[in-house]
Amino acid sequence: MNRSIKNEILRKIAPLAIVTVVGLSYALVYRIEQDGSTPATPAASRAAETLSDPTASTRPTAVHATHGSIVKGASFFVEMTRAGISPVEIDQMVRAARKTFNFKRVRPGQMYTIYGSNPGMLDSLHFTIDSERTLAVSRGEEGFAARLDTLPYTVEHFVTRGVIRSSIYNSLLSNKANVNLSSYLAVIYQWDIDFFKDIRKGDTYAILYSQKVYPDGTKKLGDVLAARVFTQSREHHAFLYESKDGGRAYYDAKGNSLQKSLMRAPLKYRRVSSSFSYGRRHPVTRRVKPHLGVDYAARSGTPVRSTGEGSVLVAGYHSGNGNYVKIRHNSRYTTYYLHLSKFARGIRKGARVRQGQVVGYVGSTGLATGPHLCYRIKVGNRFANPRTIRLPSKEPVPSTETQLYSITRDSYLVRLFEANLQEHTQAVARPRPSKQERMNTVF
Ligand SMILES: [Zn+2]
Repeated sequence: MNRSIKNEILRKIAPLAIVTVVGLSYALVYRIEQDGSTPATPAASRAAETLSDPTASTRPTAVHATHGSIVKGASFFVEMTRAGISPVEIDQMVRAARKTFNFKRVRPGQMYTIYGSNPGMLDSLHFTIDSERTLAVSRGEEGFAARLDTLPYTVEHFVTRGVIRSSIYNSLLSNKANVNLSSYLAVIYQWDIDFFKDIRKGDTYAILYSQKVYPDGTKKLGDVLAARVFTQSREHHAFLYESKDGGRAYYDAKGNSLQKSLMRAPLKYRRVSSSFSYGRRHPVTRRVKPHLGVDYAARSGTPVRSTGEGSVLVAGYHSGNGNYVKIRHNSRYTTYYLHLSKFARGIRKGARVRQGQVVGYVGSTGLATGPHLCYRIKVGNRFANPRTIRLPSKEPVPSTETQLYSITRDSYLVRLFEANLQEHTQAVARPRPSKQERMNTVF
């Protein structure tokens, strides 16, 4: 990493970060930037465009347009019949659209426009599926043809900063930031921060994110490009980086992946019923025997997930383990899932599994007093405590791209901390390294 750039950035950021922490808590949202890749026409004129007839060049000059929307409880057929379209034509449209859209699944509020040379005549139909997609069904020489269109959107970038008083959700809410950011952060930081347990009053955050704005004004959260969470005196950075091979992942300031190649536990909601120990009295045999795994109490049938990518070494029965799965992740790590009621489909010796893939279901087969999952990790030849083991990280930024990564990271950091400190959510310019910067880092 370029030390001088890093130092310079840190020098710029340190005072700003301190002010952020004590920043006032009021918010203002406004937009400045429009994405260069989409036409920068005002929303109103785009809305008009979407209502224009796609067959405009071929139709006669006098055109009737009938606007309507799906009424609660009405089917597409009922709606079209009310508009004066014949059952035969409705059927033809449904069939023409079948491969792109199922008219049997219309929802109340979806809008449509029927174009025809006379009322009740049908040349084409414009149907708004949602804020992102429209469907055009038009009459051609060989019957109706359907076309799905994705609506243009503009991209806005925002920075939101706050001090957590109760929860990050409430803080985002009072900042007038997109509250879905809280679940995005929970996923990005799932390996580092437990947003239920680790967050304390007074912790701070700064998030740089993008938002898509559709012609009807609908806003959709895009990506979290960068984040900094300061909790219990520890700083957690996350930077989204797309490597040249197209892989997108979050990395820390040094370019280490935030993702671990093993998850902490194979169950989503978990309660430990027996910890890892070298001297436990076994609940069934009553003998003192090391317990080289963690027992999680869970209902029978709860899905059990592979904590990492790997291949199944065993999916079988053993008198003590009951139905169990053993997965090899790499030359160092192997995991075990015991007492399963049954295996997931396709889980057999030699099968490849993804991280998080369901491999079986909680049960009480083998030596077990009740339904629970016994989870074990073997590192090399020794069992390790799954709750305290330092989890292995995924691949860092490719070594040939560290310089480009530093530039991207720094452009994010500048945005994260440049914005007006008294506003907790505010629009910022697109944070991209300039073309010149990219040119200078061709390897
Ligand atoms: Zn156990």
